[in-house]
Amino acid sequence: MSENVELVNKAFRVILLAIDDVVGPHGTAAILRQAGLAQYIDHYPPSDSAYGGHQLRYMSQINRALFDIYGRRGARAILQREGRGRARNGIEENGRVASATKLAAKLLPRRTKVKLTLDTAAREYSEQLGTHVSIAEEGDVFFWQDPQCGNCIDWQSEQPVCFTTVGFIHGLVAWILEDEDFKVEEVACRAAGAAVCRYRVVLG
Ligand SMILES: [Zn+2]
Repeated sequence: MSENVELVNKAFRVILLAIDDVVGPHGTAAILRQAGLAQYIDHYPPSDSAYGGHQLRYMSQINRALFDIYGRRGARAILQREGRGRARNGIEENGRVASATKLAAKLLPRRTKVKLTLDTAAREYSEQLGTHVSIAEEGDVFFWQDPQCGNCIDWQSEQPVCFTTVGFIHGLVAWILEDEDFKVEEVACRAAGAAVCRYRVVLG
């Protein structure tokens, strides 16, 4: 089922722009070619909410191309930066929701700020990327749980591979808290046999 889920235009656009920010347009072109997605070179989708045939698994194809070209360590660094860029672009492209969230969070305690942001982002993310992210809490720890993660579709690995989402969640939490006093880590990954990709957010 997950193989046929599509991303809306602006969601896939944000991903390509975020990769551009890290490796430049030529780098992105090489990655797209390696990923079997050369049709997107110089043809990024428009910034709207229509469906343009961008499959969820394209995210995983792009990530794997990055592992192929840069190795695991290189890919990890690039993907985390890409994820932070994606959070930044996502905040800009969803400006109305983002300003409302920031305003609502203004006087809230740190923990509640993060909860509000993760809940809102999970809703928008799920809608735009065709998945169903849930947020769980245990004390001061939050979990972002994605049962249809697009980063690792059809991928098998002993270790977690979804570094983009680690960077994405990091970018969101840093944006709302305006500091870096927290940690984000992928603690379970579908590529490594888990039922959901699960990311832990620990506040400092
Ligand atoms: Zn994943």
